[in-house]
Amino acid sequence: MFVVLRPQCPSEEERQVLHAAEVAQLGPKLTTIHGRRIIALRGEESQTDAIPFEAFPGVERVVRLEAPYHLAAREFHEHDTVVEVEGTRIGGGGLTLIAGPCAVEDGDQLMAAARAVKEAGANLLRGGAYKPRTSPYDFRGLGLEGLKLLAEVGAEVGLPVVTEAMDTRQIDDVVRYASVIQIGTRNMQNFPLLEAAGRTGHPILLKRGRASTVTEWLCAAEYVLNTGNERVILCERGLVAFDTAVRNVLDLSVVPLAKRLSHLPVLVDPSHGTGRSELVPAMARAAVAAGADGVLLEVHPQPERALSDARQALRPAEFAALAPDLAAIAEIVQGRPALI
Ligand code: PEP
Ligand code: MN
Repeated sequence: MFVVLRPQCPSEEERQVLHAAEVAQLGPKLTTIHGRRIIALRGEESQTDAIPFEAFPGVERVVRLEAPYHLAAREFHEHDTVVEVEGTRIGGGGLTLIAGPCAVEDGDQLMAAARAVKEAGANLLRGGAYKPRTSPYDFRGLGLEGLKLLAEVGAEVGLPVVTEAMDTRQIDDVVRYASVIQIGTRNMQNFPLLEAAGRTGHPILLKRGRASTVTEWLCAAEYVLNTGNERVILCERGLVAFDTAVRNVLDLSVVPLAKRLSHLPVLVDPSHGTGRSELVPAMARAAVAAGADGVLLEVHPQPERALSDARQALRPAEFAALAPDLAAIAEIVQGRPALI
């Protein structure tokens, strides 16, 4: 249980609450959560409810939180978090389009993709330099050279860059060359990686684990937030399932759910979520209709030549046709907040 103190609560009133909790052996711990002074209590409900904390003058409210995270929880942070990335605001209304190839393959490929997505209205450029591949014999990315290409091309077309760090040893280079660190689905519970990424202060795009619950996902976000880095962006990208007709099952109900449970921005990645380019536009439209703060889409100038995830890449013309639909849907949905 958490006792939220009034903003200007005098120290005498704070002491009264702490004293009452100590006498009742509730192990009170005074902490600051999102700038608010809060007393965390341990013990069963029958023990904590025995003290009428709401009746103390210094107390604003009492929060009974079952979730094992609190920095990520909506309860202590009513307003949507907005993550600002070089002038682009992610969350809190509006629509963020992140687009680009699955992997950086060479300068020409990346430049063609970047120019096309920029022209069609993308806000950020994506592209992997370190690629997590199921088989070690598949194309695993250009590494540092890929990061340098991302930085060069991003600067030239005027788009901030999002790219994945798979390992703590890659973080310094990713921070040097990119504006947002992506944590991939396979690493969602790599706790040392989450903490190292968090400590950089860089925005973190946190993919949901491919077989993770919402609680596990928000706990992963908590690891980052707990480093003092509040710039976390959630991204649903589909879950493994028994049916192999699609690559993953995109969980769109998690969008309104995560937005209820948490104040963090929620994006959707229908490219990995379906694995099939012909399904991507419909699911991107559905994601925005469900209240997503944006989408992440794989776009390749020539999907038939892509070295990874060829089957799910949109052509530039397909992305250009989709972008205005997404903007129109966002306007309808955001104009009627009761729908979310
Ligand atoms: C990616 O975005 O290229 C990627 C590998 O994503 P995920 O971790 O969701 O599979
Ligand atoms: Mn991919």
